[in-house]
Amino acid sequence: MFDTLSDRLTATLQNLRGKGRLSDADIDATAREIRIALLEADVALPVVKEFIAQIKQRAKGAEVHQALNPAQQVIKIVNEELVGILGGETRRLNLAKNPPTVIMLAGLQGAGKTTLAGKLARFLRGQQHTPLLVACDLQRPNAVTQLQVVGERAEVPVFAPHPGVTSDDETVTGDPVAVAKQAIEEANHAQHDIVIVDTAGRLGVDEELMRQAANIRDAVQPDEVLFVVDAMIGQDAVNTAEAFRDGVGFTGVVLTKLDGDARGGAALSVRQVTGQPILFASNGEKLEDFDAFHPDRMASRILGMGDMLSLIEQAEQAFDQEQAEAAAAKIGTGELTLEDFLEQMLAVRKMGPIGNLLGMLPGAGQMKDQLANVDDKHLDRLQAIIRGMTPAERANPKIIDASRRKRIARGSGVQIREINDLVNRFYEARKMMQQMAGQFGFGGGGGKKN
Ligand code: GDP
Repeated sequence: MFDTLSDRLTATLQNLRGKGRLSDADIDATAREIRIALLEADVALPVVKEFIAQIKQRAKGAEVHQALNPAQQVIKIVNEELVGILGGETRRLNLAKNPPTVIMLAGLQGAGKTTLAGKLARFLRGQQHTPLLVACDLQRPNAVTQLQVVGERAEVPVFAPHPGVTSDDETVTGDPVAVAKQAIEEANHAQHDIVIVDTAGRLGVDEELMRQAANIRDAVQPDEVLFVVDAMIGQDAVNTAEAFRDGVGFTGVVLTKLDGDARGGAALSVRQVTGQPILFASNGEKLEDFDAFHPDRMASRILGMGDMLSLIEQAEQAFDQEQAEAAAAKIGTGELTLEDFLEQMLAVRKMGPIGNLLGMLPGAGQMKDQLANVDDKHLDRLQAIIRGMTPAERANPKIIDASRRKRIARGSGVQIREINDLVNRFYEARKMMQQMAGQFGFGGGGGKKN
């Protein structure tokens, strides 16, 4: 989503490299470039103005002149200011002292609320919570069914009036406020510690929509009202956010569709314009395309420094700790086998499509073309080759002679050449990793934890 912005900022900041000292003119020129980059990315004008003023003031101040490397100092300032407009500290969900915590979702139709409800439910379930999803979008046909589908995928129960059934109790089928209230009772009864209320959206902001959302809010007294906004809608994101802030009020923002190729800067302005923090970000249609929003990581990603922290966190979740430590130890001693390699590859792939992961690495922004070649199909082939090997071959690829190669190629449906390639690359990578392990002091005896 922020590729163009990221490219421009990286290029601008790179121009500063190698300069021993920055003149005010250098800083003004850099600030001008940054300003254009932000405006072109659709960041709201007042946000841009404040941002640029801060950068100039700080960069021209004593900070830079005393610095050993002025370019780095400017990058640091830009990064800090960017973190600032994105909200500073990571803001976590406020959980109620007396459960259930009630989270209400509000936003325009199509913003991604229902999808988000499923994502959030899955995310919270992964943190040992016992969420209940509540279908209060009784206007859009299929909204209830859609929530039931995502609930099923997230393995989280859904409280909903039966679709299409005219119940004796009219209030249950037709009135979202009544459904919301009953859901809270149900949550108390069934000991759900979190209730996620999905509400109806409209195509545009209108009073009826706001009134309904406000009524649900009054009925359930939510601990959090999350305003869900599609990052692809451009400048409208800011106007819509203001309308919801005034009409319903919200305590946090969720950005969706960050995987899109729109410019997205407006979404980055929402925090600054409304004063409310961004809590989560969605970047795809699948339930796992979702994460807590960390302003610092997003800033470093936009600045093209990669998002190592996100990657590490995802890796921690996906990796089997013992297995990873065992592999690290083997890397240090050069004992890594293709079996380990396969296990690691499977663990990494649990984290999501490989292109997404690689995109988070530092400098990835400038390696887009190469990254485009690293696809999941290629990994599928590598996996097939290793699976086609016997345990002895995986442990010691040196024994793979011509006839074994032929057998593996036949079994895994690849060319013999690909097997040679894999084995050669494996040895090279193993050597390189061993050297790196020595350099960074992990692996071998030093990497082992008891
Ligand atoms: P609602 O009307 O606010 O409940 O929105 P939905 O949850 O029905 O989402 C509208 C459309 O956006 C659906 O087609 C979703 O699959 C899609 N969608 C939701 N979140 C994302 C996202 O993060 N990325 C992408 N690409 N699509 C999304």
